[in-house]
Amino acid sequence: MPFAEIVGQARAVEILQRELRTGRVPQAYLFHGPESVGKKRTALAVAMALQCRAAEADACGACPECRNVAAGHHPDVRFYSPQAKTRGAAEKIYIEQIRTLQQDIALRPMAGRMKIFVVDDADRLVEQAANAFLKTLEEPPDSSLLILVTAFPDRLLATIRSRCRTVRFQPLSPESVAAIVAREKGAGAEEAARLARFAHGSVARVLAVDYEAMTQQRAEFLEERQRCAGGDPAALFAFSDSFTRNSVQAAAFLEFLVTWERDLMALKLQGPDAALVHGDCAAALTREAESRGVADLLGRLELVEQSLRRLQRNVNARLVVEAALMPIIGELN
Ligand SMILES: [Zn+2]
Repeated sequence: MPFAEIVGQARAVEILQRELRTGRVPQAYLFHGPESVGKKRTALAVAMALQCRAAEADACGACPECRNVAAGHHPDVRFYSPQAKTRGAAEKIYIEQIRTLQQDIALRPMAGRMKIFVVDDADRLVEQAANAFLKTLEEPPDSSLLILVTAFPDRLLATIRSRCRTVRFQPLSPESVAAIVAREKGAGAEEAARLARFAHGSVARVLAVDYEAMTQQRAEFLEERQRCAGGDPAALFAFSDSFTRNSVQAAAFLEFLVTWERDLMALKLQGPDAALVHGDCAAALTREAESRGVADLLGRLELVEQSLRRLQRNVNARLVVEAALMPIIGELN
């Protein structure tokens, strides 16, 4: 992963490459910034650059060292991430993992110049693990580099944060997301731009989107909404039931609803030139946008976005979706 392949993080990459060039790499970095904007990829790029035998302050991407890092096989580059102790349990980084890290970091590098440990979602260290990890940060062996990656730096111990050099990652612009989508999905420019708008800044989300499934869901939503327009609560409940068989399905539905409401808002504020996710439904969206006020649309958008966040906090999927749908259906009466 040469640095040139990191999209939309010019500032972070510039800082890191300068430190690599001048040999001033610290013993620990803290990469923080929104989820899914390239923090872990950049950690991989740093690990490669440090192990690469061909390129200076960068990775060639082709030498055995680079290839081994990319494949996760390099003996001196280790990744730690949260795990569930039992099926369905919350994923955390446990003390056992940190003990393994501590044993490993005490050994000399096997193949490369130094040992590199990337701890992803470092905010999920359990207390005991965080305290043990702090010990390692206080006395890190020479020729080792720790890279902590998190979207929630405030959840780390202040004593851990203060021992790391922090590198801040920015939210990705829609253009950066589109560039990544075009590369990863082989999408054309127009489709990439539309998918990027759908993802509102998260590459993981856009890469996970099944656009055909969403189009199908949209058709069902519009049809069902019409059917519920009589105001029959039973119809509403049956409707939300069909979208909430599980929390994954409910989240996908709410994500769709967010894009629909955002399109309405964009049309209301920017008029016919607005860039829409559901551009192929522009006529229906325009009719709906014209029939409501800005405050009304904003309230609905906020409600749907809030519902999505509640769902992520494991609130009952069906209740969340019903609450989100109530005003949207209700207003059709
Ligand atoms: Zn290389």
